[in-house]
Amino acid sequence: MSEKYATTDAGAPIPSVEHSLTVGSDGPILLQDHYLIEQMANFNRERIPERQPHAKGGGAFGQFEVTHDLSAYTKAAFLQPGAKTEMVARFSTVAGERGSPDTWRDPRGFSLKFYTSEGNFDMVGNNTPVFFIRDPMKFQNFIRSQKRMAANNLRDHHMQWDFWTLSPESAHQVTWLMGDRGIPKTWRHMNGYSSHTYSWLNDKDELFWVKYHFKTDQGIDFLTQDEGDKLAGEDGDYHQRDLFTAIEDGNFPSWTLHVQIMPFEDAKTYRYNPFDLTKVWPHSDYPLHEVGKMTLNRNVVDYHTQMEQAAFEPNNIVPGTGLSPDKMLLARGFSYADAHRHRLGVNYKQIPVNEPHVEVNAYSKDGAMRIRNATDPVYTPNSMGGPEADPRRASEVHWASDGDMVRSAYALRQDDDDWSQAGTLVREVLDDEARDRLANNIIGHVLDGVKEPVLSRVFEYWKNVDPDLGKKVEEGVRAGG
Ligand code: NDP
Repeated sequence: MSEKYATTDAGAPIPSVEHSLTVGSDGPILLQDHYLIEQMANFNRERIPERQPHAKGGGAFGQFEVTHDLSAYTKAAFLQPGAKTEMVARFSTVAGERGSPDTWRDPRGFSLKFYTSEGNFDMVGNNTPVFFIRDPMKFQNFIRSQKRMAANNLRDHHMQWDFWTLSPESAHQVTWLMGDRGIPKTWRHMNGYSSHTYSWLNDKDELFWVKYHFKTDQGIDFLTQDEGDKLAGEDGDYHQRDLFTAIEDGNFPSWTLHVQIMPFEDAKTYRYNPFDLTKVWPHSDYPLHEVGKMTLNRNVVDYHTQMEQAAFEPNNIVPGTGLSPDKMLLARGFSYADAHRHRLGVNYKQIPVNEPHVEVNAYSKDGAMRIRNATDPVYTPNSMGGPEADPRRASEVHWASDGDMVRSAYALRQDDDDWSQAGTLVREVLDDEARDRLANNIIGHVLDGVKEPVLSRVFEYWKNVDPDLGKKVEEGVRAGG
């Protein structure tokens, strides 16, 4: 018999893991069998609400090391040359539920938490540099269109294309999604982008706009639609298994962080609205600057506590970093924290995976599952020497804004339109084979249930992206694939 003995949750030894307490061998079960009741009650409460969206995912712990000097642009301690910071990453699909296959065509979440010496910094990114929409008012409806219908609880390509073709700002991201990168070979073989524009502040209080690009050191690789479909049937956890096994084998994946940096004043006159989440900043305008390397080197030991309860949020920012006027980003600052309060409770930042690796002197108090002791004084201002705000240390980023209160789209700039950057991707980035795969992926997706009047809009949509591609899609769909 092992030295270890089984206990109740309170640590007391239990008499049996096999038999409940009964009146005689064949008699009724007794209410005082508190261990049986504890087991049944805990089981009933094992599941917490899954994330809506990004429910299916996995990740690992690692380290981020700064290899280049960008101190002219940010004073953030974790971005100074030579700094090494512990971190955790989570990758995910967007639309599928917790048990859904890893290899469905979908963007992948790319969420990072850095336990910096100035508090936690999170990047809640994706493996794509853009997004389907640019106003948070549409987000909930966008996700609903990717999930399940009310009556039959089925996913439906008709409703996906209905939403996309009525939302032309989606074209860039849908082009990206239907291309090769829409099913990464593994999580190790994809890039991660902040997608949003963020800000950096240097020690002279100069503000810069930045976009983060984590480029895979394993090389980009993808699965074809057929390969993805086959794996979805054979091994739904293919990506999770791959990452876990690679790290277990000591084959640690890494990503090199680059940033694009836009001087503060440029944003006022740049030819694209630099805060529009459906656009990239072309590399020729804003080249990449190398920053450092992130390496994942430690698997989780308990998926539930370290991944299912990991809570990433874009408003985890540290001195020298900040948000931007991107409407989607500003809304995510509320919605992520709110989702965590719903899923994990108001004290979710006390769950070890979410705890900063620095002293916390917060004035939050009590609430469900409070674990850390509060200390007096529990209010501020106070005359007892309690912690005080230090605006210099916090160095919040600021930008000016004025105007009437309106409900309107971003003001259009010289090159702002919904189709051009998608068209550039098709014509100038993809080669002939990749363009063929893109067209075939679209045709296959559309043939799976898209009907009029959405179908005609699909053809128009692709003709707006690129006339040749649109023609090919229409011909392919009309011919039945
Ligand atoms: P560049 O030629 O400098 O960059 C093109 C970029 O496209 C590459 O650096 C690569 O990004 C990415 N790429 C390559 N193959 C694919 C693919 N199959 N699917 C999606 N992306 C791919 O040109 P620009 O900067 O002017 O951008 C042109 C177009 O490239 C954009 O309209 C956009 O669609 C796409 N793109 C641009 C990015 C940017 O931040 N400028 C980032 C990613 C895509 P990476 O090096 O990040 O792998």
